[in-house]
Amino acid sequence: MTEPARYLRTVVLPLDQLRHFPGNAKRGDVPAILDSLRRNGQYRSLIARQVDEEPLTVLAGNHTMMALELHGPGDCGQPVKTSRGERPCAICGNDQAWELTARVEVVECDDDTARRVNLVDNKSAEKGTYDRDALAELLSYMDDDLGGTGYSDADVQLLIAPPPSLEELADTYGDPEADDFWPVIRIRLSPEERDEFLGLTADAPGKEDTDRFRYLLGLARGSA
Ligand SMILES: [Zn+2]
Repeated sequence: MTEPARYLRTVVLPLDQLRHFPGNAKRGDVPAILDSLRRNGQYRSLIARQVDEEPLTVLAGNHTMMALELHGPGDCGQPVKTSRGERPCAICGNDQAWELTARVEVVECDDDTARRVNLVDNKSAEKGTYDRDALAELLSYMDDDLGGTGYSDADVQLLIAPPPSLEELADTYGDPEADDFWPVIRIRLSPEERDEFLGLTADAPGKEDTDRFRYLLGLARGSA
């Protein structure tokens, strides 16, 4: 019998009072999360579990914590470039006195629920799908300044002009024929060799190079 997680409080804590969830299976894009934190700030709290006197264990937000560790204490020396100029890093404010902290929602739960929360928090993000039109519209408000969105210019291009699907290719070019997949031989000949080829294959049943080549193969086998 497992109990649901119970919310206790929200606090700002030094990272050394937190520990990562042991065995977290997700491998996230930490530099991309750090980009987002610098641009957008820590808009979502870490979720950490309190167990007696042990350090708080981060159930959800382990990659946000890694990104903060990557940032490190003090001034990162990297102001944020926006389409309207530079502004301070949203994590440290480019302040040398900034201490390595994170906002944390502290919960209480049993081992089983702790594992479930860790698993579902990683899984639910990847299980979703996108409304591409809604996504394209949201990105269109970014005015070519994609910092802190997690999207690159290439992502946006793909969204605006996605490569054609197999169905669309079939509509345009027709269904593939079996011989579309046959090997192709390209050969370069002197004009004399070309004339000889045409002369030797003048009696071929067709006038295409393929017909002539098959006829020539027949001659070589002694069957034409
Ligand atoms: Zn910074």
